[in-house]
Amino acid sequence: MINVNGLRKTYTRSHQQVHALNDVSLKIDAGSFVAVTGPSGSGKTTLLLSLGGLIQPSTGAVNYNGQDLYGLSPSRLASFRNRTIGFVLQTFNLVPYLTAVENVMLPMLPLGGNGTDPKKQAVDLLDRLGLADRKEFFPRELSVGQQQRVAIARALANEPEVILADEPTGNLDPALADEILDVLEDLNKNRGKTVVLVTHSPQASARAGIVLKLRDGVLVS
Ligand code: ADP
Ligand code: MG
Repeated sequence: MINVNGLRKTYTRSHQQVHALNDVSLKIDAGSFVAVTGPSGSGKTTLLLSLGGLIQPSTGAVNYNGQDLYGLSPSRLASFRNRTIGFVLQTFNLVPYLTAVENVMLPMLPLGGNGTDPKKQAVDLLDRLGLADRKEFFPRELSVGQQQRVAIARALANEPEVILADEPTGNLDPALADEILDVLEDLNKNRGKTVVLVTHSPQASARAGIVLKLRDGVLVS
């Protein structure tokens, strides 16, 4: 279970303060599918990155099963993140000079493997996402939908309990978006993953069990 308590994040830019998150508290049960919606600039990405241990909040805490994320040392936080959380970003962030299977293997390497062959695990993941015949392709040789599926496979590399996705369908046409949403829904329903999906598409938030709305850094519903 993820417990967010009194989260505030203030960015300072050229002597101006931006209150990106303003006292956000929420609970996310293990195995739930939560959508975070809200207009551009409302703090969605800041919230998602704070949930993922990537942005130190100004005040407040993020707890995973009682573990205070930002109370961990940077190296323990990095290792917790790598094991527990899979990130899927709008821009995919695939490494252009690595093949699909190499991209998926990337997060497995710092953990030194868990006894199974990383390449075999990566191939299995690509297989599950319908990309068995694309594993040796470079990102530029894949369609956008396929690139996004490689990014999802990579997010799943270490079998994380939690998937944090920031507008993963933002660049896709509605049919491809549906395909990616099917994948996320399957991971939630059939594999028990907790999914937090940032989106401003009603098509996407309709998939979630819980829809949170942010406005100017405040949770409004
Ligand atoms: P959303 O994802 O909903 O569009 P963001 O979390 O990206 O919102 O941004 C929330 C607010 O914080 C915006 O006003 C944005 O301009 C500001 N902001 C985001 N990141 C930074 C940053 N690194 N430095 C300064 N301001 C930022
Ligand atoms: Mg954003």
